Amino acid sequence: MDQLTHFINGEFTAASARTAPVYNPATGQQTAEVSLASVAETENAIAVAKEAFTSWSAVTPLNRSRILFKFKTILEARRDELAAAITKEHGKVYEDACGEITRGLEVVEFACGIPQLLKGDFTEQVGRDIDAYSTSQPLGVVAGITPFNFPAMVPMWMWPIAIATGNTFILKPSEKDPSATFLVAEWLKEAGLPDGVFNIVNGDKESVDVLLTHTDIEAVSFVGSTPIAEYIYSTASKHCKRVQALGGAKNHLIVMPDADLDGAVNALMGAAYGSAGERCMAISVAVAVGDIGDALVEKLAEKTRQLKVGNGVNHRLDMGPLVTKEHLAKVKGYVDLGVEEGATLVVDGREHTVEGHEDGYFMNGCLFDNVSTDMRIYQEEIFGPVLCVVRVPDYATAAKMINDHEYGNGTSIYTRSGSIARKFAHDIQVGMVGVNVPIPVPMAFHAFGGWKRSLFGSNHVHGEEGVRFYTKRKAVTIRWPGDGLAAEFNMPTMK
Ligand code: NAD
Repeated sequence: MDQLTHFINGEFTAASARTAPVYNPATGQQTAEVSLASVAETENAIAVAKEAFTSWSAVTPLNRSRILFKFKTILEARRDELAAAITKEHGKVYEDACGEITRGLEVVEFACGIPQLLKGDFTEQVGRDIDAYSTSQPLGVVAGITPFNFPAMVPMWMWPIAIATGNTFILKPSEKDPSATFLVAEWLKEAGLPDGVFNIVNGDKESVDVLLTHTDIEAVSFVGSTPIAEYIYSTASKHCKRVQALGGAKNHLIVMPDADLDGAVNALMGAAYGSAGERCMAISVAVAVGDIGDALVEKLAEKTRQLKVGNGVNHRLDMGPLVTKEHLAKVKGYVDLGVEEGATLVVDGREHTVEGHEDGYFMNGCLFDNVSTDMRIYQEEIFGPVLCVVRVPDYATAAKMINDHEYGNGTSIYTRSGSIARKFAHDIQVGMVGVNVPIPVPMAFHAFGGWKRSLFGSNHVHGEEGVRFYTKRKAVTIRWPGDGLAAEFNMPTMK
């Protein structure tokens, strides 16, 4: 059985005293044991990263970006190996794992342009014979704590920009699928990244708490569920760190009566059931406006019954298993709850076995109709292949529902009306908005982030917001000595 330890100072460490099992969700078999770092092991990683910061922050941005270029070529050549590692521990289908890698790689490509992104500004003559300029400098040691659902992409929202801007990085990946990041660490080393710049500490709350409170950690990026995001934000801010903590979601897609119905149905199928619904940008609520509900539900039901579910290593499947046995039970529990709450279970995918994989954590797609806003299946994040249809009379009711929801990660509208689309994009209280686009995930050169209880902190991830998050500004005002200047006791003003 594989022993997954930690990657510190360019080396894999010995196993920790505490470990957790890692499973292949398609077979239900344990495949590895992951170390859970102690306080001392985490502190050691921080000390190593702090030591590495001195020399790494002195490397020129151009040379830092050259290492990322090299990494990009290595990753492109070995994408299949990384995708296989993701599928083996997460369960998502292989092609979807490749998509995740591409979206992560886009952030590496963005970070390759760091010399341009770090250009400061300069003003000549802010005062007589005085010039002023501002620069962006790295913070020091920064940490990333990431969820199970995108084991390669979500860390890549963080570390490429963090290290390109001159910081050193400690990643605490999800203990459910930690292998993908080990490949990344090895390939970064091969690309020429000095030891100690990128470190991996596997673990649970014990190691996370060290990262949140240690005086040598300057900033914390977190992606995961809302209760933990809130805990991360409040604890790390209390310890005077910069924090961006992205949380959970309940994303709605409005289908207007004038929408291209087949387009909307196809969009909903991919966005609700892709990756078995284990995406923070998954659409879990379809809002049927006016009289479109019957036709929408009929078409969705037909397609949901045809979903192809199996081991993600096989090609041309729509969905793999859920990540763990416990998560499968939780999602099925929500489907039971929806039935008890009075929603109409149009397609029941709770029982689903895959031949030869009887111990895998499989279920099929579930479709609820007549869901109302007072139901828990509407209010809470299920994070599984369960789509709820809510029927409303008009656009205003649909928009109000979305605005009243505690989450505000992503949302979309399908319509042919430019004025409704414009109104939606402007009014809706959600961070990422799509018009006739199912999952409006911004590209790497824009910022990604939700509103309300989907994000705690003021910075979204990647794009220029990412550069801003991982750097501190310095304003320099310069006068070269001329003839003797008299002492000034009043507040200096530029003359
Ligand atoms: P999670 O909150 O359980 O875990 C996330 C990370 O926090 C993991 O590294 C985990 O080890 C750590 N953690 C868990 N409990 C902790 C505790 N008590 N103290 C300290 N650290 C702890 O999330 P998950 O189940 O891995 O991922 C799914 C969640 O992530 C969903 O809610 C999903 O919406 C969210 N997510 C959000 C985004 C986004 O961009 N907003 C993106 C991806 C996933």
